[in-house]
Amino acid sequence: MDKIEKFKELVESSNNIVFFGGAGVSTESGIPDFRSKDGLYNQKYDYPPEEILSHTFFINNTEEFYKFYKDKLNSLKYEPNITHFKLAELEKKGKIKAVITQNIDGLHQKAGSKNVLELHGSVLKNYCMKCNKFYDAEFVFKSSGIPKCECGGIIKPDVVLYEEGLDDNILRESILAIRNADLMIVGGTSLTVYPASGLVNYFGGKNLVLINRDSTPFDSIANLVINESLGKVFKEI
Ligand code: ZN
Repeated sequence: MDKIEKFKELVESSNNIVFFGGAGVSTESGIPDFRSKDGLYNQKYDYPPEEILSHTFFINNTEEFYKFYKDKLNSLKYEPNITHFKLAELEKKGKIKAVITQNIDGLHQKAGSKNVLELHGSVLKNYCMKCNKFYDAEFVFKSSGIPKCECGGIIKPDVVLYEEGLDDNILRESILAIRNADLMIVGGTSLTVYPASGLVNYFGGKNLVLINRDSTPFDSIANLVINESLGKVFKEI
């Protein structure tokens, strides 16, 4: 049987699916993959992007941080693609219980997904560091200079920067969703970067499907490996 046919069959026969996605989910919307050859990390800035996107840099060079952040991480300019939409549709049908993502762009929500677990936070959520007041992405991206709260405090995006830990609750919910699923679909990630690599190990269900252009360290334990673009696979679902 054709691999995509097999995938279709697995999705049709399961009502307890967890999707785990990486940068590859959003690259088809035009958002660059940080780590790819022509991605953010290989472009030229005054500082390496890894340094700009660190906690220390945010604290010490807030203005410079926001210049980069508004220029490069403004996902409001992008639209969800077929994969985001299909995942939202599968959630609506009760098949997908959770979408776990390493992306911070908010495109799953824009496509209609409700239970999105964002391991690295989200540009959609921003809080005043002084009074904790919430601000949306539009406010932050449209602000000039450093976005400030009405109380005068600096607003910080709820994005996990380098040197910062992951949110314990999100991590716990993700592990629970993976443990409870009978079908786990991993898409658009090479599964080499923490915490992606560790999370797959919590899956004890029937079928593990990997959809990625390149091979991953988990290929040998997967029930189905599809080396195709996500869009090509999901448009058949
Ligand atoms: Zn405030």
